[in-house]
Amino acid sequence: AKERGRNTFQFFAPSMNTLAVERMVIEKNMRKAMGGTEFQLYYQPKVCLQSGKIVGMEALLRWENPELGFVNPQKSIPIAEETRLIIQLGHWIIESACQQIKRLEQINPDISIAVNLSVVQFNSPDLVSEIKGVIEDTGIDPQKLQVEVTESILIQDSTLAINILKNLNNLGIKVCIDDFGTGYSSLSYLKNMPIDYLKIDQSFVRDLIDPTNETITCAVVALARSLGMKTIAEGVETAEQKKFLQTIDCDEGQGYLFSKPLQACQAEELLLKGTLF
Ligand code: C2E
Ligand code: CA
Ligand code: CA
Ligand code: CA
Repeated sequence: AKERGRNTFQFFAPSMNTLAVERMVIEKNMRKAMGGTEFQLYYQPKVCLQSGKIVGMEALLRWENPELGFVNPQKSIPIAEETRLIIQLGHWIIESACQQIKRLEQINPDISIAVNLSVVQFNSPDLVSEIKGVIEDTGIDPQKLQVEVTESILIQDSTLAINILKNLNNLGIKVCIDDFGTGYSSLSYLKNMPIDYLKIDQSFVRDLIDPTNETITCAVVALARSLGMKTIAEGVETAEQKKFLQTIDCDEGQGYLFSKPLQACQAEELLLKGTLF
């Protein structure tokens, strides 16, 4: 039994170590990178599915570290959340996005930018005043700022969440529920919340050939419309997907078919073109 115990330990230990070490190395480098120039925001256009016009952009975090190379946000964001570094990083993201709004609105006065908010940021007591401060400092029209939050904020019990959403809404900021349909939120929440957009998760969009996903996508669009919200589909990669989304009157689309996420200057160039189909 002792023997087996030791073997079991040896079997599990190396992989656990590798993960723990990787995590520590990422955390160490992230702390060093704070306030520096390793982080960048990329921007992925959102297009109106009727006109083909670019109506907004989503800011997506990119991190290139001298030791680690490009670190995928799916890896870096959870560590930033656990260490709460996301609060400081998130502040920089909001600030940079608002500065980018000022640049983009010189090209198109109606353009908006969306930032992703982590649940950790969403639960920080200063979020609303922080965003308010950045809006005042940069002087942007708050209508041009969107926040994308996942359904998980709706699951947690939520007079707090409703209050934050109401306060953001009072500032004029637009709220988008990201990855809609993948969480377990009670739909009844939706009617009490000031939500402007539902973003249909790319897992449904990717396999629109699957009739179940087609049904879900249709249902989300219908639900949003009946609640006075708009819809955007993410992960649009093919002309067929675009066509289907157009026939069911989904408002906006985002995905590699239109454009991948771009560096700020490339995003500006694309916006000069204005239309993506
Ligand atoms: P998300 O918010 O759902 O973002 C969509 C992801 O899909 C992005 O990955 C984007 O590059 C990718 N994508 C866009 N179009 C397509 C497409 O047509 N096909 C496919 N297969 N993928 C597409 P990315 O940039 O790696 O970000 C992954 C996730 O990391 C995001 O998912 C978001 O949850 C998180 N994230 C990224 N940037 C930030 C940030 O600034 N703050 C926070 N809190 N989270 C972020
Ligand atoms: Ca998003
Ligand atoms: Ca998403
Ligand atoms: Ca996602």
